[in-house]
Amino acid sequence: MCGIVGIIGKENACEIILKGLERLEYRGYDSAGIYVANQETDHLVKAPGQLTNLAQKLTPEITGNIGIGHTRWATHGVPSEENAHPHLSQGGRFVLVHNGVIENHLELQETYLNGLALNGQTDTEIVVNVIETLSEKEHLSAFEAFKKALEEINGSYAFALIDTQDPTKLYIAKNKSPLLIGCGEDCYLVGSDAFAMIHETNRFIELKDGEIGILTPQQLWLEDADGQTIDRAAYTAEVEAADIEKGLYPYYMLKEIEEQPSVIRRLLQTYFDEQHQPIIDDTLIKQLLASERIYIVACGTSYHAGLATKATFEKLTQIPVEVHVASEFAYHQPLLAKEPFFIYLSQSGETADSRQVLVQTNELGAPSLTITNVPGSTLAREATYALSLVAGPEIAVASTKAYTSQVALMTILAYTLGQAKNNPLCSAFDIFHELELAATSMEEILYEKEALKIAAHDFLANQRNTFYIGRGNDYYVALEAALKLKEISYIQAEGFAAGELKHGTIALIEEATPVIGLITDEKTKAHTRGNLQEVKSRGAHVLVIVQANFAQDGDQVRLPVVHPYLTTLTSVVPTQLLAYYATLERGYDVDKPRNLAKSVTVE
Ligand code: GLU
Repeated sequence: MCGIVGIIGKENACEIILKGLERLEYRGYDSAGIYVANQETDHLVKAPGQLTNLAQKLTPEITGNIGIGHTRWATHGVPSEENAHPHLSQGGRFVLVHNGVIENHLELQETYLNGLALNGQTDTEIVVNVIETLSEKEHLSAFEAFKKALEEINGSYAFALIDTQDPTKLYIAKNKSPLLIGCGEDCYLVGSDAFAMIHETNRFIELKDGEIGILTPQQLWLEDADGQTIDRAAYTAEVEAADIEKGLYPYYMLKEIEEQPSVIRRLLQTYFDEQHQPIIDDTLIKQLLASERIYIVACGTSYHAGLATKATFEKLTQIPVEVHVASEFAYHQPLLAKEPFFIYLSQSGETADSRQVLVQTNELGAPSLTITNVPGSTLAREATYALSLVAGPEIAVASTKAYTSQVALMTILAYTLGQAKNNPLCSAFDIFHELELAATSMEEILYEKEALKIAAHDFLANQRNTFYIGRGNDYYVALEAALKLKEISYIQAEGFAAGELKHGTIALIEEATPVIGLITDEKTKAHTRGNLQEVKSRGAHVLVIVQANFAQDGDQVRLPVVHPYLTTLTSVVPTQLLAYYATLERGYDVDKPRNLAKSVTVE
């Protein structure tokens, strides 16, 4: 969601910013813009739509040694050139890019702008004009005016600001939205994440909420909300530029789907010792064991990963587990157990809805763990403990490998707890070996992907709506399968508990409605088959995804047999491929679906 890149100290600022914005494209956006300057000239260029529209406008004379760029994901005002960032103040002095939402923008407008006509409808344009008004009326320096404006603002922001009268400094500030400083050679950068700057540096300094800074080519000045100077060391990021290249793959999504077996193997290398015993921080295990109830809080695909591990987690740990949608939990907190433990699942570690809950549970003093793909992200820093998904950068908006990595890591965690409790189910479960087998099984499914391409063509590509059904863990995978399909192919899809369909929704089944059944559970296989029969009798086109040991004649997609605790790892893979191929066939951009952002950094 929205990307910011800024740089000071390099002659080719425009080129560096454009490259950074390309690296942030995966986050989702609807328009883009760049401002660059040097002592003599400056240029502000914006364009709605894809970044290529902006790139076409960037003629060779558009250069500078300081600049800021932005990809916008509209929250206030339609996606348009006027509303695209950077925003220039009406007096022409300040240029600002922003990620986030200013909640009191209308009050600020009324208090400070005195009916001033604006070019667009964004909250950001109000802020840049408030800064200018404060600097003029109260004779403040740029930094003072910026600070004063920040005191008046309620909401989330990552800001990068340039004073056109003195383009020798870049001003930055952060609250709730992500922003990272990059330390280059004779230059400083700022970006929404490390990818945006990795072509210039791999050394970064994190910025925390409420902090504000000034960058010059050689110096960095940081202070906290109380005006105290901060001296923070840089760290070296592990991410490699090559990790975020597509290679020979046509889309990141396919690359990431195919990386899943190696992600499982990387988890085994990371979280097990040479004797194949799990290695997870002892204090984390003790604190989890002391808890009375575990609350998994997440959104979207991560929420589905939480659901997909709940049953195994409870079996192995004998601790009750609740799974909650973060945006609901934040405002409708359930009655909590006396000793709760919170687990936050978030691919990016920046999900604003989950972070909001984490702030609340931190206030309660409750222990927490963030499981994320981005070590050092906000949720990872602010939770008591953090575990990394080690899945490598996930660029496609639709999450795939982060989901399977979450499921596998949660299972490893549950096993470690169960083992510490001497749960006999753990002695009977050779988790290292079973996860190795699951990785191989995923590979086998991927070898057969052509069959799924045909199934996507025959069953899905030309349909308006579809249903995924299953029971237990198959139901949870059905939810994820439906989400994947709708987010990229725009086919309306619903994941349903198979037994629940007949209680109402079966009314939607008509001639040729696709219904995809998931069957991996001995206990419920016959019941799900019965439900598939019911829809078939009403004209549905049925596709069965079944674990091979439960297959019958006519079943189209057969999955290799894996341990019952790990079926959600394998059964999800064909559904990811179905979504991918159906989308290709419908002619949409698989990696960048409309209206969606990769890391959802606004509530
Ligand atoms: N609220 C701002 C806008 O609508 C920023 C959105 C963003 O984070 O991209 O322009």
